[in-house]
Amino acid sequence: MPELPEVETVRRGAEPLLLRHRLRGVELRRTDLRWPIPVAAVRDLVGRRCAAIERRSKYLLLRFDGRGAPAAIVHLGMSGRLLVERTPRSGARPEWRRHEHWRMDFGDRLVRFVDPRRFGMLDACAGATLPTHWLLRDLGQEPLAAAFDGAFLHAVSRGMTASVKAMLMDGRRIVGVGNIYASESCWRARVRPRRAAGSLLRRECAALARAVKDVLAAAIAAGGTSFRDYVGVAEDAGWFARELAVYERAGEACRRCGGRVRRTVDQGRSTYWCAGCQR
Ligand SMILES: [Zn+2]
Repeated sequence: MPELPEVETVRRGAEPLLLRHRLRGVELRRTDLRWPIPVAAVRDLVGRRCAAIERRSKYLLLRFDGRGAPAAIVHLGMSGRLLVERTPRSGARPEWRRHEHWRMDFGDRLVRFVDPRRFGMLDACAGATLPTHWLLRDLGQEPLAAAFDGAFLHAVSRGMTASVKAMLMDGRRIVGVGNIYASESCWRARVRPRRAAGSLLRRECAALARAVKDVLAAAIAAGGTSFRDYVGVAEDAGWFARELAVYERAGEACRRCGGRVRRTVDQGRSTYWCAGCQR
């Protein structure tokens, strides 16, 4: 399932390919994915130039110029891929791929949305209404933003009896820290994931904020190395296998202290940590 680093990787790959390109046409092979696609609002994007591609949590925001400065909102769901390809010089229209549900023609660039499980989405709205869009308005802090720091985590965690890991994964407070990244961040910060969040000291909050940024940045850096004019979501676990310190390494020696990596299960989700060096 695409997580924040994968979505950010798609954003960084797609933006330079589409920026200032004019949308020539949209083709929908169906009018619903996870939710209905607002066909008229999507058609209203045609004729406009791409002004930016932004990301909010795991939503890609394709912003367009012109009246109302509208935006397309794309979510990859469980299995979605946003592919950006060069249109063949011959002008021939590429065949639809299996599970390709919509495409956007940007002249010499073609965007295809491929999603076997159809949990993805496509929406469109006026740019000014994005902050109050029903899917975006309750999202928490972006962890890669400057405002996400030790002071932020300290303020959020005061009085909190939920675990540190639960706090990190609560999307209404912080977006994009999934199960893997939560365990890895706690390890980097030397904090036990099951501790009550309210017990975190200021310096631990600072270390944790740094750790979250570093883990996400490392994942983005790994995901961003593999494409040129083809943008895809890495579905293999290459980064995980190489870089993860504790996730799915139960029983192995901690690479920092040599202690044994442990696995506990909370609400059906595995948590990995080291009793030797996490407090
Ligand atoms: Zn350790």
